Amino acid sequence: MSESIDQLSNPGQASYNLIEQSGNQLKIKDPAKLPSICIGCGSESDLVKVQDKLRYVNPIVMLWILLSPLALIIAYSVFRQDVNIEFERCRSCHNKKIIWSKISMILWLGFIGSIILRFQFDGVVGVFFGVIIFAFFLFALFASAMKDPGISVKTYSEPYFYLKGLKNSVASKIING
Ligand SMILES: [Zn+2]
Repeated sequence: MSESIDQLSNPGQASYNLIEQSGNQLKIKDPAKLPSICIGCGSESDLVKVQDKLRYVNPIVMLWILLSPLALIIAYSVFRQDVNIEFERCRSCHNKKIIWSKISMILWLGFIGSIILRFQFDGVVGVFFGVIIFAFFLFALFASAMKDPGISVKTYSEPYFYLKGLKNSVASKIING
C-alpha cells in the first residue's frame, strides 16, 4: 500500500521494488530500494542516499578458466547479473566509505607504480621494490574490503537477488521496521 502511494506522489521517478523477506533471508528485485535506515549501523537520522550496483556471478562460471582466460572473460560478461540498488547511509558511515575508497585507489596506484619501478632496478633496490609491491598489494586489498558497501549478493534465483553482508541488528531493523 505504501509503495503505491509512493509511486503516485512521485510520478516522474522510476519505481523501485522494496526489499522482501523469505525466512531469514532478504531478497530484492531489480531495481531495488532499501528502507530509510543506515545499512552500516542502523541509524535513522542524517541519512545520505546512495545509488549502487551489486553484481552476482555464479562461482561455477569461474570454471571457464579451464578452457582459456578469454573464455572466462566472455562467460563472465554473459552470465553476470546486475541489480541496481538504492540504499541509505548515515553521514558518519558514508564519510568512512568515501575515505576508504580514496585510500584504496591511492594504494592500487602505488601497487602499479611499484611494479613499474621494480623493473627499472636490479639488485638490492629491485628486491626492495619487490617487497614494496607486496606491501601495497596487501594494504590495497584491505582498503578495498573496507570500502565495500557492506552488502552483497549471496545467490541469484530469477528474478530475486538474495542478500548477505548486513549486520544482524540492521537486518532485523529492516525486517521489523
Ligand atoms: Zn551509519
